[in-house]
Amino acid sequence: MRRDDFPILRREVYGRPLVYLDNAATTQKPQCVIDAITEAYQSVNANVHRGVHFLSQKATERHEAAREHIRKFLHARSATEIVFTRGTTEAINLIATAYGEAFLREDDEVLLTEMEHHSDIVPWQLLQQRKGIRLRMIPVTETGEIDLAAAESCFTPRTRLLCMAHASNVLGTVNPVRQLADMAHAHNCHVLVDAAQSVPHLPVDVQALGCDFLAFSGHKVYGPTGIGVLYGREDLLEQMPPYQGGGEMIARVALTGTTFADLPYKFEAGTPDYVGSHALSTALSFVEETGWEAICRHEAVLTRYATERLQAIPGLRIYGTAAGKDPVIAFNVQGIHHLDLGTLLDRLGIAIRTGHHCAQPLMDRYGVEGMCRASFAMYNTMEEADALAEGLERVRKMF
Ligand code: PMP
Repeated sequence: MRRDDFPILRREVYGRPLVYLDNAATTQKPQCVIDAITEAYQSVNANVHRGVHFLSQKATERHEAAREHIRKFLHARSATEIVFTRGTTEAINLIATAYGEAFLREDDEVLLTEMEHHSDIVPWQLLQQRKGIRLRMIPVTETGEIDLAAAESCFTPRTRLLCMAHASNVLGTVNPVRQLADMAHAHNCHVLVDAAQSVPHLPVDVQALGCDFLAFSGHKVYGPTGIGVLYGREDLLEQMPPYQGGGEMIARVALTGTTFADLPYKFEAGTPDYVGSHALSTALSFVEETGWEAICRHEAVLTRYATERLQAIPGLRIYGTAAGKDPVIAFNVQGIHHLDLGTLLDRLGIAIRTGHHCAQPLMDRYGVEGMCRASFAMYNTMEEADALAEGLERVRKMF
């Protein structure tokens, strides 16, 4: 759907039509997003917030309109709860640093899940080294779901924060965030949701999810690279110290000390990516115009069809079989190294991802070094699922 809006999909690789199935890594950009970036530099470029002049005011208006759009998109209570970051990774690092400083003491526990992306593991390990916090992991079942029975017993009186992916970038599992958030809150824990893989595929409502923090990346939802969002509950953000120091985040600086700006600017040191915020807002409008119902239906039908085609291939094992999955299929084919598979498919014009998918604890869970992953977006077609299955059959016959 809306395939014609994405100019890159018309190109060929190695003289073959591009079959782009690496959307969980990054999505392609519709023409309107590309145009929004060009137009911003052509006609509205000026630094925001500090300038009184016409262009600076226009750029500021756009940047703040984008923030308000994202507030609505996530159903946050206030635009002060929307902090622009470089992406999901920076948002989680911000929380690990600033929340860690304000709320975590030695021997406090942060609870993760076995399906977390490295960007929701390593910042906590860095904090572990700095502050002596402890990390625990909720196990994942064979079907690729959070083990809810085990989850309950992972909470201790020292658990302060639960960090979980809304959707797994490998298994595709959409986690029962509300249920886990309720469980965490009953144990007096805060909840951070990594929504990098859910925001592109389903409506995300921070109030309905009951989370305290949520992060996502613009580039995974048809927006530009280099911009992302941290949602944080206002009362918690208020209690947290700044993440970085510099311009934009201060109220008054004197050599004897500095007072900080109000939310959300306290967490936005330096010139923000005001072109990126505008282009991200354009991408979200594109998604809204297309409509969640149509996107979800198309991606679910496509994922079901591709799964059926892949399951028919002898020796192919799919990892992650939960109902209502994200449009992501991770797999291995017996006797063929995932890297070889990816390389040979690439020569047929088919782009998939291979490797550990920045989720090595999950690879350990399944006892594999890596997996292949095909991931779909709104613009992928049944013919592309056929091309993947036929490509896999062709490669399999080479071994
Ligand atoms: N979390 C998940 C679940 C992801 O899939 C990704 C990207 N692969 C990230 C976090 C990190 O996103 P970014 O690199 O855009 O910061």
